[in-house]
Amino acid sequence: MVSVAVLGTGLMGLPMARNLVRAGLRVTVWNRTLDKARPLEADGATVAGSPAEAVEGADVIVTMLSDGDAVHEAVTAAAPGLRAGQVWAQISTVGVAAVGRLAALAGRHGLTFVDAPVQGTKQPAEQGKLVILAAGPEPARQVLEPVFCAVGQRTLWLSGDGADGAGTRLKMATVSVGISMTAVVAEALALAKGLGLDPGLVRQVISGGPMDSPYFQAKSKAILEGDFTPSFSVRNAEKDTRLIVEAGESAGVRLDVVAASGERFRRAEAQGHGDEDMAATYFASS
Ligand code: NAP
Repeated sequence: MVSVAVLGTGLMGLPMARNLVRAGLRVTVWNRTLDKARPLEADGATVAGSPAEAVEGADVIVTMLSDGDAVHEAVTAAAPGLRAGQVWAQISTVGVAAVGRLAALAGRHGLTFVDAPVQGTKQPAEQGKLVILAAGPEPARQVLEPVFCAVGQRTLWLSGDGADGAGTRLKMATVSVGISMTAVVAEALALAKGLGLDPGLVRQVISGGPMDSPYFQAKSKAILEGDFTPSFSVRNAEKDTRLIVEAGESAGVRLDVVAASGERFRRAEAQGHGDEDMAATYFASS
């Protein structure tokens, strides 16, 4: 039986860990705020008190934390429990620049580093339907097969070397779609309201037409119903806009729309919406 240590049981890490347990894997979880990991005990996971305790004896280490610094900190803290040969699937969205630093950390501990960010939000995570954008060597792919099968519907293997960050580079492009779309939907609804109309009319007009999509439906519904329960927080989305713009700059690609979306998220955060769903970018219009 493959044993997996999951570091980070936030919005995404918790349902992913639950699906790993359900798939019959031996799962140990750690979260900085331990209480957030506790519900997984009822599923059959072991809750560890430290990253080192969590990774001890694991075949696979999964990191699902907010950013590159948090991941670096947690894996550094795990050092006493690490052993050479463990496979580290780094699933958090950390950006292109952080991948090299994390791969170097893996190298220092003899871990096999797999760059594996995911596309899909909380609901696909609950359903085990994420899309995994992966880069890593062949032997690690075999070890990870039951892990990725439990959390995802599809894995795209992009490169044989996790350190080249092919997964993260693709993630920068794909996450920019959701981020920009959310800002566009929020602005359209805010504009209709500002012009003295029922913003629900925008939804009526778009629904069923060529611009409709499950994403448009989900984000417009959240805004119209005022339900900003997070699937993907404003804080993490803002972090991603910085990572995407940075990636674009490193490649000489201008990303005006994502940069503007970042401004909106920063305004929404300053207004106190940081922990809400990124649909709360709606509030940045006023
Ligand atoms: P989240 O709910 O905000 O969870 C963040 C996790 O990181 C929590 O476990 C938090 O611990 C931990 N953390 C933050 N700073 C830390 C630190 N300095 N040291 C240790 N732990 C720290 O975020 P999420 O939505 O699960 O997302 C996790 C990652 O996946 C992010 O990189 C995000 O961009 C990416 N992602 C998210 C989605 C989505 O739709 N939500 C989709 C794909 C990828 P505490 O509980 O103690 O705060």
